[in-house]
Amino acid sequence: MRAIIIGAGIAGLATALRLHQIGWDTLIVERAPQRRGGGYAVTFGGIGYDAAERLGIVDDLRAKAFDTTELVYHKSDGSRRFALDRATIAATTGPRSITILRGDLEVVLYERVHDRTEIRFGTTLTAVDQDDHAVRVTLSDGTIEEGDLLIGADGLHSATRALLFGPEEDFLLDLEHKVAVFMLDRRPASIAPGATGTLSSNGRTAAVISIPDGRNVAFFGYRTDHARPGEDVGTELKRVYGDLGWVIPEALAGLARAESVYFDTISQVVAPSWSKGRVVLLGDAAWCVTLFAGYGSSLAVGGADRLGTELAAHPGDIPAALAAWEAAIRPEAERKQKLGRRVKGVYAPANPLVLWLSLLPLRLAALPPVRRYMTRRFIKG
Ligand SMILES: Cc1cc2nc3c(=O)[nH]c(=O)nc-3n(C[C@H](O)[C@H](O)[C@H](O)COP(=O)(O)OP(=O)(O)OC[C@H]3O[C@@H](n4cnc5c(N)ncnc54)[C@H](O)[C@@H]3O)c2cc1C
Repeated sequence: MRAIIIGAGIAGLATALRLHQIGWDTLIVERAPQRRGGGYAVTFGGIGYDAAERLGIVDDLRAKAFDTTELVYHKSDGSRRFALDRATIAATTGPRSITILRGDLEVVLYERVHDRTEIRFGTTLTAVDQDDHAVRVTLSDGTIEEGDLLIGADGLHSATRALLFGPEEDFLLDLEHKVAVFMLDRRPASIAPGATGTLSSNGRTAAVISIPDGRNVAFFGYRTDHARPGEDVGTELKRVYGDLGWVIPEALAGLARAESVYFDTISQVVAPSWSKGRVVLLGDAAWCVTLFAGYGSSLAVGGADRLGTELAAHPGDIPAALAAWEAAIRPEAERKQKLGRRVKGVYAPANPLVLWLSLLPLRLAALPPVRRYMTRRFIKG
């Protein structure tokens, strides 16, 4: 059996790894000329962690995971509002969860799978044709590839979805925020090594994450009523954050030296069905939950793992496997989408009282008795 996978992100690489486990051949088609590294910190747990155990990658992930020594919330003048220490942060996430850079999660998957699959970089799909026996995909390098299954793991702006299911605007639910993320080549002096500093003011959030190995990530997330269509990332960030102090001028200066920047609107993908015959969407292409839910990488790996399980359980019957897979994953994806929509309402609120209330659970978590309670709850499972 052979699968053609569009996209070498977390979803695509995890799918190739899982399908290899059940004896399938895979071809991955990636539009970028080479592997895209970098990225922000993701919390990886839930069905993703369970899947990572089955995929045998937990030790590799843990080797690249990091603990945040302190999470400091700042006021808009840069002074400290309050802080969570390492133990409190660990108690809020639980033991079966890690914090890892998105790019490092991708590296772990790539290292495990790259010699078991062909990855064709700098290539995309231009046409798809399928019947009861096979799916044929025309690629931008002029070749035609045939397989038993086509998997669209090509992210939020999926070309597979546009070709097979319809135009993007039919599926994207705009959550009215934008995000920019890039690596900083030096740590701002006021961020302690291993700490994360964050500030929320008038519909804008900024954060700088110092990774204990010396890397640093800058994050900017803001409501789209601050944005202007067509503005480039540098101009927009300067206009939106230019009045704020703290480490923000330093982080904005770092953008000019950054190798790459992730800059997009925050949108969910709401699709009534994730498959059509021998074509299936997986990961953000199918169900993007957004960073408001903080679970996209976990769902991508969990979804990839379950797809392999269902394909193995329904040999020779791809539509039945895809139906069973969607029935298993959709409730979790929809729960996380609901959570993402709720969080949007309290993310970077413009109203100072709403901001204070939204931070209240974290302030409480920092109190030793609450932290001890949470730790006990997680240890009991
Ligand atoms: C700021 C931010 C913070 C986040 N925080 C978290 C978090 O805390 N926890 C968490 O679990 N998740 C988080 N996520 C989400 C997470 O990164 C993704 O949901 C997850 O990585 C799943 O990605 P994917 O592989 O489906 O898509 P992507 O990572 O978008 O990968 C898609 C791949 O397909 C390629 N591609 C795109 N178009 C084509 C094409 N036409 N042809 C060929 N290839 C193509 C792309 O180059 C890319 O390599 C966050 C996301 C953002 C933006």
